[in-house]
Amino acid sequence: MDTLISNVTAVTMNPRMEVLFGAYIGIEDGKIVSISKKPPAQAPKTIIEGTGMVAIPGLINCHTHLATSVLRSYTDDLGNADALQFLLQKEAKMDSRTAKAAALLSIAECLRFGVTSVSDLYYYPNATAEAVAQAGIKANLALSSYRFIDQNEDFDFETDEQCRELVRVVDKWHGYDGGRIRIDAGIYAEYTSNYKLWEGLAGYASEKGIGMQLHLAQTQGEVDSCLDRTGMGPGELLNCHNLFAVPATAAGCTYLEEHERKLLGKKKVTAVATPLTAYKNGQASTPILDCVKAGMNVALGTDGTIESGNLDMFEVMRFAAMSARKESGDPAALPSSAALMMATVTGAQAQGRAKECGMLQVGMDADLALVDFTAPHLMPCHNVLNGLVWSAKGGDVAMTMVRGQILYQNGRFPTIDLKEVVEELTSYAIPTLFEDQK
Ligand SMILES: [Zn+2]
Repeated sequence: MDTLISNVTAVTMNPRMEVLFGAYIGIEDGKIVSISKKPPAQAPKTIIEGTGMVAIPGLINCHTHLATSVLRSYTDDLGNADALQFLLQKEAKMDSRTAKAAALLSIAECLRFGVTSVSDLYYYPNATAEAVAQAGIKANLALSSYRFIDQNEDFDFETDEQCRELVRVVDKWHGYDGGRIRIDAGIYAEYTSNYKLWEGLAGYASEKGIGMQLHLAQTQGEVDSCLDRTGMGPGELLNCHNLFAVPATAAGCTYLEEHERKLLGKKKVTAVATPLTAYKNGQASTPILDCVKAGMNVALGTDGTIESGNLDMFEVMRFAAMSARKESGDPAALPSSAALMMATVTGAQAQGRAKECGMLQVGMDADLALVDFTAPHLMPCHNVLNGLVWSAKGGDVAMTMVRGQILYQNGRFPTIDLKEVVEELTSYAIPTLFEDQK
């Protein structure tokens, strides 16, 4: 046995929702080989003392834009229209080197906060994949395609530049390191592209067996515009063009009509609630309970740091539960177990990783985090699930591991030289974006 986590409270998130007190978690060759209340007979190479700690499956952030962290705190108090103008100006100056440095910063933040797998929808997927490969985290990376193709314009998937980039990235990175990196197809949203691109991407995704990521029905204005143009809501429209014929992860799903939710429920589309973005923008949040009732898979995401301020999935769990309670008027709606489920089990399903992570279970990858429950704001702990959702913060994570490899522990990032990343951001990335303001 390589590693033993001893005397820990294990929140397994298994189908029986077992919580084991004083548990021993054995890890060998990157996998969980035992979870027991008795120490194993065989001596491990390394022991991680778990007294006072709670072990949870690594959290899964199903919607973010890692590379945008270079613009964190730049436009937080501006309205959406003003913010968008500033952001587009800066994004136009981004390049792969900037994207990689910012992605590494964001991945360090994810690991700091107990996240072991992310779904990213952005540009520069090659640079982001390099950062993911180096850091050791898991990721489903999607190229955020956008383009209106004129009715009369011939569209050829083989020659379209964005589609060619997707093909190159899939060929190079999909399945990297035993599937640690997966590549998905992606569109930014319904209103930034049209059917020729959708059908081309859906056909390719289906052929390659890859997923689809997108933003969907995040604002009423987006839905109204789609209804005006096409007579259909964006969920129904995209469905007509096969976008949900492959496993799809749609951030938002806030303003879908009931019949669209049912339609997407039948296709097992994942709705990703990003409540931090919704609250920050003063908008409604994903109607999580309605999406679940309609048969959709529901997972959670931070969104990018431009939208949410940080990548703390503990905040996201809390705000997701609060949004369900505010909308239903029911103070018991969306209990802690459900919030945790969306940040672990259903997130793994969304990423096509349900067999490898999302639970602490023998045979699964050792993707987990230890949360230090000895801090004043976590004592006493009458109910560990409530403590995790209502009282804990990302900063309470003491250790994060992926496939048994420690990627964060007590302030250290063994795979990321944070000093070097900050140097790259301050000496290259930020001047590249802001040079006209010097
Ligand atoms: Zn987003």
